[in-house]
Amino acid sequence: MKNTPNQNIKPLTLNRNSDFCLEIGGCDMQNLAAKFGTPLYIYDEQTIRQIAKDYKNAFNNYPKVNMMYASKAFMVQSVAKLLDSEGFGFDLVSGGEIYTVLSAGLSIEKSVFNGSNKNYDEILLAIENNIGRISVDNFIEMAMVDLAAKSLDKKVNILLRITPGIECHTHEYIQTGHLDSKFGFDLTQIDEAIELINDEYENLVLKGLHAHIGSQIFETKVYYDEIEVLLKEIRRIKDKYDIELSEINIGGGLGIKYNQDDTPPSIYEMADVILKSIEDNTRKYGLEKPLIYIEPGRSIVGTSGVTLYTVGSSKQVPNGRKYVAVDGGMADNPRPSMYQAVYTADKVEEEKCEEKETVTIAGRFCESGDILIKDITLPKLNAGDLLCVYNTGAYGYSMSSNYNRVLKPAAVLVNNGQADIIVERETYEHLVSLDKIPERLNRYE
Ligand SMILES: *Cc1c(COP(=O)(O)O)cnc(C)c1O
Repeated sequence: MKNTPNQNIKPLTLNRNSDFCLEIGGCDMQNLAAKFGTPLYIYDEQTIRQIAKDYKNAFNNYPKVNMMYASKAFMVQSVAKLLDSEGFGFDLVSGGEIYTVLSAGLSIEKSVFNGSNKNYDEILLAIENNIGRISVDNFIEMAMVDLAAKSLDKKVNILLRITPGIECHTHEYIQTGHLDSKFGFDLTQIDEAIELINDEYENLVLKGLHAHIGSQIFETKVYYDEIEVLLKEIRRIKDKYDIELSEINIGGGLGIKYNQDDTPPSIYEMADVILKSIEDNTRKYGLEKPLIYIEPGRSIVGTSGVTLYTVGSSKQVPNGRKYVAVDGGMADNPRPSMYQAVYTADKVEEEKCEEKETVTIAGRFCESGDILIKDITLPKLNAGDLLCVYNTGAYGYSMSSNYNRVLKPAAVLVNNGQADIIVERETYEHLVSLDKIPERLNRYE
């Protein structure tokens, strides 16, 4: 079966050119560093477009699929534009994400508003702008969504977020009746939710069920089982209330290859399992084929993005590790320190037959835990060399911070030799732009 970009460590256009320098999207990385500075997030447009197309092609034979890009992986206006042009809607989880899409001149009418503690203003913003679906997470929110809809004199199409009792870890998963999760309605709370919608909440229109079972998923069988749980519930609801819900949102979660040990399935393998489960379980439970929503985040942008750093100081611990520091770290990529995520990297400019050594790539932030890559073997790195860390496209910029008051890096989008800024590098002026000094502090001078 066809390989898809999430199964590679490197973006599709990454090559070493005739000068032994890495290039991406037809752009030499040394030139990118010289022009835009480092650290720099670089996104390969071809990789994003290819994976978006693979998602669509994989479901070609199933006419009722809505692709939603999970914005939390990386959302800026250009990414919204790009995925909209590939026919995707958005999985949005905050007013900020909604605002970003709207401010790019796009609609949210095909999008889903998710999250376990949406506030009233965010709900109003979504409904005012005709959000496609709100995935209602809990009873308090259900009352708020109805109230907001009523105040705008609108009906809102909703899904119920449920915890299907399937929990996914990367290499194993557990199935239980109840799940200790902060997200969604427990299976035993669905009936009460439906009765409230039927009897009290006149501005809510229930369209279907939503679940999301985890992230960085390598085992396609969890999708089979998740869909079975959702369709079984739809059958049960039909028997009890005589309504056949016509939509299921199965969430995102497909994994990507961060290092040689990772073996994610292709999008086509995932799609086959999803479609097989729909086929088997609609037959088993005597249901119409539902409209499916899929919400991939990491697998859309993860592989497309790399981070370029400049090497600075280094330290050889006597009889111990050699640490090589770069000009970024946990503030632009918190995943190694948060989740012990393992990344790979290459030296950007390699000489032929260069001497190699095993080093630990350290960040510049004031935490011993700020290590980007432990024990990696690379050609010798000297101050001023460039290092390219792979697979930083998802949950990097979107989780970045100003820790140590370090400026957030820029991001560029590359394609066919062209590189364009999609987020500017922060400046010191940006950094203090929201600071205020109360007048009374000036009196003590
Ligand atoms: C995080 C999340 C996603 C995306 O997950 P990925 O692992 O990035 O694909 C999709 N849907 C929901 C509800 C999520 O919380």
